[in-house]
Amino acid sequence: MIFDGIIHGWYEKNKRELPMRQTRNPYRTWVAEVIMQQTRMDQGLPYLMNFLESFPDIHSLASATEDEVLRQWQGLGYYSRARNLHASATYVVEQMDGIMPDSYKGLLALKGVGKYTAAAIASWCYNEACVAVDGNVSRVIARLFGIEDAINTPKGEKQVYAMAGELMDQSDPATHNQAMIEFGALLCVPVSPPCGDCPLQELCEANRQGLVDQIPFKIKNKKPVDRWFYYYMIISHGETILIQRGKKDIWEGLYELPMIESEAPLGDEEILQKIPRLILQESEPRYNKDMGIGTLSAPVRHQLSHQTIHARFLQVQMDLLPYPLPEKWQSVPLEQLDRYAMPRLIHRYLESSNF
Ligand code: SF4
Repeated sequence: MIFDGIIHGWYEKNKRELPMRQTRNPYRTWVAEVIMQQTRMDQGLPYLMNFLESFPDIHSLASATEDEVLRQWQGLGYYSRARNLHASATYVVEQMDGIMPDSYKGLLALKGVGKYTAAAIASWCYNEACVAVDGNVSRVIARLFGIEDAINTPKGEKQVYAMAGELMDQSDPATHNQAMIEFGALLCVPVSPPCGDCPLQELCEANRQGLVDQIPFKIKNKKPVDRWFYYYMIISHGETILIQRGKKDIWEGLYELPMIESEAPLGDEEILQKIPRLILQESEPRYNKDMGIGTLSAPVRHQLSHQTIHARFLQVQMDLLPYPLPEKWQSVPLEQLDRYAMPRLIHRYLESSNF
């Protein structure tokens, strides 16, 4: 088929030598796919190498605690993916003798493994003919076939999968999927792709119709929700307080400083006034008499996929920490803060404050 020859030829000439292409090990491919889904290649590679160094095989990941896994994941965001990876590794070790499923269908049954990840592993490691459609491939397919339905709707997605299936090279699914992903990542880029240099220009419907700048169509996502977080870094004799976040909200299982959330921005005075309430609520008043107020940070904006966090940090020196510490509060020596997995927002604050 003409298409296979062109895309494979382009791939052989232009592909990047990536570490995950040096192995067909399903565990390592799985970890690479999950990490690379959420970050740019250059940013993600050091995380991938570190993660695989800490957890070189599925047994080492399964025997780690969730805290250890989250600690390694710190900075990557989307922590539920790390938890799912850990839960599925544990499942494979405990229920499947440590042997990962060797088919698209089997992989799809693992927690957190979606259509793309299952197809990427099954095609690369087992040469199964299933299409791996990530954002890059969706864009390429939508342009090649001039798909005018939004690709983030069920109707548009169905067309993308159908067309991607038609293009699949049954004789070499592994190379085909890698070539499509790489082509979308390097050449058919979201903005102003160099169509004049593209080997597929003659076959591309969007190019023929002059619609490259418009396709793929997408329905706009809802505006992110604003949230206002005020963190209090309580310091006493070289120790501070951390609290592990609970379920059903962002950053589940990660550690953070004591905080209050407000429904609207608070002024400097209000932030200060909340301190006694925060600590008095949790401890006896006598411990607060020697409180010293430190620096209040400027507002920090932290963007998540569906939420915008507006945060400020206030340092509070206390002669004595509340005793006993309230439930969930944990006193941690400042020099041991790096042992705890924290949201990047908190981590950056601590780093910039030299903790
Ligand atoms: S011609 Fe342009 S839009 Fe079409 S596949 Fe090539 S790079 Fe993408």
